Amino acid sequence: MRDFGLTPVINVAGTMTALGASLVRPEAIEAAAAIQSEFLLIDELQARASDVIARATGAEAGVVTACSAAAMTLAIAGAMTGPDLAKVEQLPDSSGMKDEVVIPAGHLINYGAPIEQAVRLAGAKVVALGSVAGCTDHHLQQALSENTVAALFVVSHHVEQRGALELEAFIATCRAHGVPVIVDMASEYDLRGPLAMGASLAIYSAHKFLGGPTAGLLAGDKALVQAAYLQNHGIGRQMKVGKEGIVGALAALRAWGERDHQAVRAREEAVVAGWMSALAATPGLTPERHADWTGNPIERVKITVDPKVAGLFAWELAARLLAGRPAIAVRDDLLEQGLVFLDPCNLRPGKGEEAIVAQRIDEEVRAALERADGGKLSLADWRRARLEHSLAWPASFR
Ligand SMILES: *Cc1c(COP(=O)(O)O)cnc(C)c1O
Repeated sequence: MRDFGLTPVINVAGTMTALGASLVRPEAIEAAAAIQSEFLLIDELQARASDVIARATGAEAGVVTACSAAAMTLAIAGAMTGPDLAKVEQLPDSSGMKDEVVIPAGHLINYGAPIEQAVRLAGAKVVALGSVAGCTDHHLQQALSENTVAALFVVSHHVEQRGALELEAFIATCRAHGVPVIVDMASEYDLRGPLAMGASLAIYSAHKFLGGPTAGLLAGDKALVQAAYLQNHGIGRQMKVGKEGIVGALAALRAWGERDHQAVRAREEAVVAGWMSALAATPGLTPERHADWTGNPIERVKITVDPKVAGLFAWELAARLLAGRPAIAVRDDLLEQGLVFLDPCNLRPGKGEEAIVAQRIDEEVRAALERADGGKLSLADWRRARLEHSLAWPASFR
């Protein structure tokens, strides 16, 4: 960190690629470091990975990929090519192959990049089902055709939850048509649910809740996992995972099975309780406990910012917290609704970061009130400033 003069960051946003993903577990760090000075047969290592992933997920087989986005592209490519190496090398030209991937319209999310591009990268086409606010079985029935190669389903807070077809019903219809279902579970704790329900493949990020290095896990049907792995002779080369990523992900997966989840919950609960009482005293802020959108065992604090009383908009508060030292990154998905979320799961234990967060929020609000310099940056202006900052890279970090 010191070598590069980097801004120290307190992460209460969640597990975000742009913030360095997760706190990597010591077991994963050790495993990744130890393998660096060894040679091995990667195919053999991935065969061992298959066993470890299969045990953890209840799948027939599994493989470690560069990340979840990569797993999605490889899974779709594998469904298109099967074990045919000529087709593997032909992609992303999909001539002569089934190439349509159906996905509920409300699942066309953006996790930093659009999911539909992960489909197109394989050479496939996206067929959106229904509308953003509703996908029914008849939309799915109508879209499935002899060109359908796979169906994609996303479980995530990013997904529009209204009027969504349940995974179970989605799987049943796809199975009846012989179409494999790929479930994007990148950020979900439930390692077994979708496969137990009959999904063909499930995808997890190693660098999110699992606390691994940057990697993805693809688990499920043996033939489909094999075909996805074969893509390393084709488009998979562009998204390869190295030995450190593979063993690090496996170590994190093992550690997850052995972790004292209750102790983690208790620690996070103490942080949430501390924030609830500390922030209640800050003018214009209403803190509330907020259960995770998709039922992961995470509780966050949802802060409603009343700009008339707090003297600044939610997005101004977030921007000022991020501009400080240490920078504090809050969860920002719903800033435009005046909501700031604090996520306790990536705080570094024993560093007192939670107290710094509460104190800095209070200071920013009181400073804005005293200086009367808040409530001036419109949502559109804030968005424009953020965009300009990204487009000005790398000069924006000088
Ligand atoms: C994070 C996320 C992804 C991308 O995962 P990576 O492993 O970072 O590529 C895809 N889908 C969902 C739902 C996510 O939350």
